[in-house]
Amino acid sequence: MNQLSIPAYAKINLTLDVLGKRPDGYHEVEMIMQSIELHDQIILKERKEKGIKISCNHPLVPQDEGNLAYRAAELLIKEYGIEKGIEIKIIKNIPVAAGLAGGSTDAAGVLKGLNELWGLGISRDELMKFGARLGADIPFCILGGTAIARGIGTDLTPISPLPEMELVLVKPGIDISTKEIYSKYKPELVKRKPDLRKMQEAIECRDLEGVKRNLVNVLEDITLYYYPQVAETKKIMENLGTYPVLMSGSGPTLFAIIDSKREADEYAMKLKDRVMGQVIRTRTRSECL
Ligand code: ATP
Repeated sequence: MNQLSIPAYAKINLTLDVLGKRPDGYHEVEMIMQSIELHDQIILKERKEKGIKISCNHPLVPQDEGNLAYRAAELLIKEYGIEKGIEIKIIKNIPVAAGLAGGSTDAAGVLKGLNELWGLGISRDELMKFGARLGADIPFCILGGTAIARGIGTDLTPISPLPEMELVLVKPGIDISTKEIYSKYKPELVKRKPDLRKMQEAIECRDLEGVKRNLVNVLEDITLYYYPQVAETKKIMENLGTYPVLMSGSGPTLFAIIDSKREADEYAMKLKDRVMGQVIRTRTRSECL
């Protein structure tokens, strides 16, 4: 029986700006997205009987059609009139409701995996269009690497890869929904807007100090304002080292960029004793899949 196991990588935002609200209720964004090595594992097993079976080792992840990965399989099965069924097993390592695109990357993994397993021959661009029908972060999760995202996040321009950087992530012990933070977004709460051009230049010139100086996410001001425990975690992270700390997406995960592996390991060890939440050691991921 055909089966496949593939990694589904998380993302962080190196910059995130909200440009306005569209008549359809979505926000117009402009951001630089970056794949990281932290990943879920997706195991796909073909079934003779029709239908989709889904399971996940994380209690907060839906094990039915509420799972984005389920909806990704359903979409391809319908579009291509597939007569077989599929069993999807998700091994979760990416924290849930964390601003790391966990659900989106699982869906992207299923789209890529089923394309391969069933030899559908769908081009990457076409696969990204299918992804956009299910969620704004899915096209980037299919593309991977480093990219500028515009529109609702689905208009992507790949840029030259960021030099590999060590990361320490902290997921404070609360879950935050993306929808909630966007609904609370007010320009008056924003302290600093990102400079996309400067960040892009720093990335393209491999200027690590420039990258660190230009890390800005306007949603961080919103999340920190409404969730003091995230602000407190950020303070602890900043006081414990000299590394820049930024929130990813709508949060609450915070990440620090660190030059050396050894320093990052030491910093992560220190943080484990001092913060309430999950500490994760990982690094950026430069190549596209
Ligand atoms: P983003 O960064 O794209 O805004 P996120 O990382 O903040 O996403 P997710 O981990 O994708 O958030 O989870 C958001 C919600 O989506 C969860 O509360 C969960 O109920 C639902 N969900 C559906 N499918 C999945 C999945 N495969 N993995 C995780 N959550 C999922």
